[in-house]
Amino acid sequence: MKPPPLRIHRPTTLEDTLDLLSEHSAAGKVLAGGQSLVPVLNMRLAAPSDLIDITAVSGLDELLVTGNDGQTEIIVGARATHRRVERSAEIAAANPLLGEALRFVAHPAVRNRGTTVGSIAHADPNGEMPMILALTGGRVDVRSTRGERSLEADELNVGPLETCLEADELITRAVFPGLPAEARAGFDELARRSGDYGLAGVGMIVDVDDDTVTGLRCGFISVTDVPEILNLDALVSGTGLNDAPEAADAVVDAVRNFIDPGGDIQASADYRRHLTGVLASRLFRRLCRGENPRKRAGGTRRPATDTKRGRA
Ligand code: FAD
Repeated sequence: MKPPPLRIHRPTTLEDTLDLLSEHSAAGKVLAGGQSLVPVLNMRLAAPSDLIDITAVSGLDELLVTGNDGQTEIIVGARATHRRVERSAEIAAANPLLGEALRFVAHPAVRNRGTTVGSIAHADPNGEMPMILALTGGRVDVRSTRGERSLEADELNVGPLETCLEADELITRAVFPGLPAEARAGFDELARRSGDYGLAGVGMIVDVDDDTVTGLRCGFISVTDVPEILNLDALVSGTGLNDAPEAADAVVDAVRNFIDPGGDIQASADYRRHLTGVLASRLFRRLCRGENPRKRAGGTRRPATDTKRGRA
């Protein structure tokens, strides 16, 4: 199918972009990589009259790590593709979660065009990036002709495929905090076929002091409506790293009680709940063993135990 007739605007400055969004706010849409929006248009699930294509807007393609050790921020501009973020050695060193999760997003062809900010704006509960933004305590910076504001992930996401953005607002960038040196972080998911959205996925940050776990936060994909973060500091605090296999059972129980999966043609709710627990257990034990993705900084190879085999 093809989309209904529409006008495409291709501004080159942020000011013109914001003017166009203001002018067409009733029936206009931002077009970034088009990897989510174009299928939606082709299936006629949305029928905007005007698309404001931001792929030529100067100043939106920033991708950098700022700050010092322990207090870094990763700035991802609205035009930065998933692939650029995934391949940045500097970003992998500051926060390996982004690259680790991005390798599970679709195929390289989609990641070459799709943007990380577009993914956050799309707010798909099956998407990896909205959850990683929430798990890391990140935010988005938003502009319109009316002014600018910053939104934390939990303010931004109000429902499945729904954000609190006004129709004339543009996310200019996403800001992900770097991970403290003593934190260990990872992501894992399972999909039925290479390139599919995950049936379930888990992101995890484990805080460690010497040989002791001091904190644990988990985020999920495909099993909650919005990226809700489960804080298990009280449950695991004081656990020795060598005791992780025993502590993992309690983590699994807490995770399965927290999530609220639905069933569909791909998998039942019970299966997704079971799977999420298995992924959480594996990830917790892996991180406690010290298999820290930070050590693979800059690499784009998939882990040998990758559950989406065959993907680049
Ligand atoms: P677009 O499609 O251009 O826009 C998406 C939405 O966000 C639109 O509503 C648009 O108006 C809005 N938007 C975009 N940028 C902004 C902005 N700066 N400010 C305000 N609103 C904005 N994603 C996953 O997370 N995991 C997957 O496993 C996955 N698999 C995929 C498989 C296939 C075959 C395909 C085609 C896509 C898949 N995706 C997946 C989606 C992909 O990650 C998209 O790239 C991403 O969701 C949207 O980014 P985009 O730049 O293409 O945005």
